[in-house]
Amino acid sequence: MYILERKNDAFFIKIIHFSCKSFIMLQNILLNWYLKNKRNLPWRNTTNPYIIWLSEVILQQTRVPQGLPYFQVFIKKYPTVKKLAEASNDEIMKLWQGLGYYSRARNMHTTAILIHTQFKGIFPDNYTAILKLKGIGTYTAAAIASFAFNEPIAVLDGNVFRVLARLYAIDEPINSTSGKKLFTVLAQTFLNVNEPALHNQAMMELGALVCKPQKPLCNECPLVNNCLAFLQGKQQFFPVKVKNVKVRNRYFSYFYFLVHKQTCIYQRKAGDIWQNLFDLPLLEWDQQVDNEIILNELKNKNWFSPTKKQSLYLAMQTKHILTHQRIFANFYIVKLINKPQMGKEFIWINPTELKKYAIPRLLDKFLKEQKLI
Ligand code: SF4
Repeated sequence: MYILERKNDAFFIKIIHFSCKSFIMLQNILLNWYLKNKRNLPWRNTTNPYIIWLSEVILQQTRVPQGLPYFQVFIKKYPTVKKLAEASNDEIMKLWQGLGYYSRARNMHTTAILIHTQFKGIFPDNYTAILKLKGIGTYTAAAIASFAFNEPIAVLDGNVFRVLARLYAIDEPINSTSGKKLFTVLAQTFLNVNEPALHNQAMMELGALVCKPQKPLCNECPLVNNCLAFLQGKQQFFPVKVKNVKVRNRYFSYFYFLVHKQTCIYQRKAGDIWQNLFDLPLLEWDQQVDNEIILNELKNKNWFSPTKKQSLYLAMQTKHILTHQRIFANFYIVKLINKPQMGKEFIWINPTELKKYAIPRLLDKFLKEQKLI
């Protein structure tokens, strides 16, 4: 039995009626379950830190069935950190297309270049050094350090938070500062220091396969007899989260120009979503606007004015949800007789070439729905 206590804003795990025997017993039950039930995933059969790192970056915020094909493509094309470092950023972004959270790919490339040029291609071999790499947070550093080097550092991802919150019926919000501290201490206390790699993978696998977010399969759970949430019949109440995420609404009018069998794209800059991806010219508004306002703005910019030979029509309306943004997008197809005067950042290409560019999923959806690629 364990009690979590708060003292002077710090948490302590107070262990009552605790014996090493019971703790080791739980770890062993978990380990045995894992060895019998684990999925055969390609990054599990290696201690190569590059392969583990690649898989962890791809799997952040991504489910295994969605991430696996990307992992296979990346590992085939870039079997070593050197190959990844030598690739162009545009090539990496194109392969990453559809996976979202594009900063992961950019940071991964920066880190590959650093390891290749400054560390002679050798991946850092401990948690502290790994954590200093760009794009690597505490979870990924713990995963690489434990899976590749067997360092006794507990991983704490969404699956582990959920299993621990339910196992000990902890109502401290997992996304609060105090909650993160508490669960970090608890995960580390619960870690099997003799088998950190297997223990960490077992905790994550239990969360993914059995202690699922919506309907946990408690009847199949090896820890069921020791799970406080199960014993209280309150699995659905854990983990607790505070709602503090503000979602921003954005309104985009996109323009698919067509002139002399060419269309126009530009590369998105830093400081906004989809950095470095290619996108159609667009106007952004702070609310929904009607066609008259859009036409006036197009005229002001000298992008379009209606004539007998020039036309504009609304081809698609859609809503696209990102973590902190809700994008309301209207796509217009604009037929012109001459190219409009536009800034240097805009490039004109044959629409068949669009396949070569890394583009946001929203644009990909439009092009596919309209059968434009
Ligand atoms: Fe999760 Fe149910 Fe297992 Fe408890 S018994 S850890 S709620 S699957």
